[in-house]
Amino acid sequence: MNLADLLKKSLDSSLVDLIHRVADESSSLGFPLYLVGGSVRDLMLGRPIVDLDLTLEGDAIKLARALVKKYGGDLTTHEKFHTATWVFNSPVSSLQSLDFASTRRETYSHPGALPTVTKSTLDDDLRRRDFTINAMAIRVDSERFGELHDPLGGQKDLENKLIRVLHPNSFMDDPTRIFRAVRYAARYGFKIDSETLKLVNAESLKVLSGLSGERLRNEFDLIFAEKNYPTMFARLADLNVLSALEAPNFDASFVSLIDKLPEPSLSVEIDRVTLGYILWLADSSPRKIQSLSARLAFTAELTETLISASKLKSMLTELKNAKPSAWTLAIENMPLDSIYGVYLMTNEKPLFDFLSTWRHVKPITTGDDLKARGLKPGPKFGEILRRLRAAWLDGEVRSLNEESELLRNIL
Ligand code: ATP
Repeated sequence: MNLADLLKKSLDSSLVDLIHRVADESSSLGFPLYLVGGSVRDLMLGRPIVDLDLTLEGDAIKLARALVKKYGGDLTTHEKFHTATWVFNSPVSSLQSLDFASTRRETYSHPGALPTVTKSTLDDDLRRRDFTINAMAIRVDSERFGELHDPLGGQKDLENKLIRVLHPNSFMDDPTRIFRAVRYAARYGFKIDSETLKLVNAESLKVLSGLSGERLRNEFDLIFAEKNYPTMFARLADLNVLSALEAPNFDASFVSLIDKLPEPSLSVEIDRVTLGYILWLADSSPRKIQSLSARLAFTAELTETLISASKLKSMLTELKNAKPSAWTLAIENMPLDSIYGVYLMTNEKPLFDFLSTWRHVKPITTGDDLKARGLKPGPKFGEILRRLRAAWLDGEVRSLNEESELLRNIL
């Protein structure tokens, strides 16, 4: 089968030119060059290609070095993994760089270990991959441009909308593939093949729960970045992945809130992934969050955000009829992203008022004014200024005159 026409039709012409330039260089070094993995899958599905995964039967670092020499740009190499990145001087279409990998074989010293990489053939490189639909390659050098390599039946599974592992030990070797299966199934509306599904069992879940926190958290990050993440979470729950990690389910009533990132005018910095974690975990206790944070290697910042969100949620009944100044005092040291997340979850208007207005309210009188009145700087200063701010927040004073009068009363 030849996909040359599909390639030319689907890719931006500047990308096709880029592939030809790389292919010519690769040919002159004697290295057959292929587009592999996700790019081939998405091309065949008629979906936009966001990345070009290029692999070659030869020395990836040598090829990237030759390209940098000929066309300029920067080079990053990973000798141990036989990979290189060519960073362009200026972007080509939406690409800033190209990654090259030498075709390789991967072996696992024990279940869940990171693989040991040795250079090998294209066939071996396709066999080390996760699913049949990700294990196809298209040759892009020479007159064989467009030739499809599909030794494992990827095209048939694409047509039948099936996610299928390449061998029964796949999830034991690398249980992050369970997350990947769930991601692809929900993203493309595919089914996980029944034999593959049986391999998500007590044994592979045990290996999964022993993976490093970084590897696990990365999988959740990738899930939150996906549009259809609620289906993915539901599937992870069904497959007992969440319980194996002692993690809660995602409350279905919060799922659509992930798209409600704040207007820039609110000046609250929060990204979709962080908001996803808040919506997932703000109903857990601070203790539970601490243990998940250790389990999933959350950053200190994310942990603080989640714990604050959880504490804030449990403070809400107490704050119910409090004045603006009491709300402000209670929450002003909390991370803004926690407050925003809890606002979305509860629709508690004072939280929005705090973010949009209250947190910016200050009295007109400053510390210098107090000094000028002969007061000695000290803790009393803060107390006075807080009292004045509270008066503004609660509508007790509305002008400089009223503030000055209150100040005279306090002093
Ligand atoms: P996505 O659209 O989710 O980024 P992708 O296919 O581009 O999909 P990558 O994570 O960029 O995914 O991986 C590129 C390719 O590398 C995959 O298509 C697959 O062939 C292979 N791969 C990635 N992760 C694994 C893994 N854990 N086990 C085996 N093969 C993998």
